[in-house]
Amino acid sequence: MTTNAVDKILLAHGGGGRLTDQLIRHNILPKLKNDILAELADAAKLELSSSSVCFSTDSYVVKPLFFNGGDIGKLAVCGTINDLAVAGAKPAVLGLALIIEEGFEFRLLEKILESAADTAKQNNVPIVAGDTKVVETGAADKIFINTAGVGTRLPGVDLGFDKIALGDKLIINGTIGDHGMAIICQREDIKFQSDLESDCAAVAELVCKILESIAGVKFMRDPTRGGLAATLNEIVIASGHSIEITEADIPVKPTAQAAADVLGFDILNVANEGKFVAVVSPESAENILSLCRNHPLGKDAQIIGSVVRTADAPVVELITRIGGRRIVQMPYGHELPRIC
Ligand code: MG
Repeated sequence: MTTNAVDKILLAHGGGGRLTDQLIRHNILPKLKNDILAELADAAKLELSSSSVCFSTDSYVVKPLFFNGGDIGKLAVCGTINDLAVAGAKPAVLGLALIIEEGFEFRLLEKILESAADTAKQNNVPIVAGDTKVVETGAADKIFINTAGVGTRLPGVDLGFDKIALGDKLIINGTIGDHGMAIICQREDIKFQSDLESDCAAVAELVCKILESIAGVKFMRDPTRGGLAATLNEIVIASGHSIEITEADIPVKPTAQAAADVLGFDILNVANEGKFVAVVSPESAENILSLCRNHPLGKDAQIIGSVVRTADAPVVELITRIGGRRIVQMPYGHELPRIC
């Protein structure tokens, strides 16, 4: 029996025998094609441009697998690339591991792999290691992906919570909440879902450009699960400084805001997949902002707030559109399961 004789993944495709070999050689390798992976060694041999590296891993269980603006394959590649970039590293290589539920369609697997491969290629980050497991029906939901990545640290760049100081500015590279609202509206089959598009994108090129050309970046993080609220609270907790943000300066697409309002979400808590928050020195803020705005993934960038003095325990405080103030809490975390 050839792989083409079945259109669905069988348990035997994960059994390590002939069908596994066929799956890898006929369905996976042609999509992810590169010389290192083609060796099918137990581990990829790498020549990196520096011995100072960052390493990151993340699992992707997003539901639905295909959404407006992306799919689980693109998301899995972008997510790990972004984690490396915001840590101050130029992404170099990725590994990609699949956990597939028996019965999953080959057609969909190939679509996901194509998307992962295209995204990796566009970003010049080859997928050099991989793994495939198949579990019985019901033991997973269609497909889960884990990616891991290594990036070489940019020389002279040292980001950390400890670098954050009073007066620093906070920059975001564009509108918030697009990924989460696109996913949740598609999942709930909400009418205006077609107007919502995930921001799923790899921001490494823009992030590396900023870090390589402008001094003054103290810390960066991608506000994924838990949205901007979680990232800002993490910064406050780890740095011991308070943050003040201005609602009117936070970029939000009207459709994403409308969807959040209708469904009762605070847009600050909603996930992003193509965004970074940068804490930067006040002197560098305008230069970084204009560099962002000259890049397609930063055209809606804004300075959204600053690091401020705190009387008591440090907090994230929002100045509302009508001039009021409210504390932005760390989201509890149950609002949006399987968002990425
Ligand atoms: Mg992250």
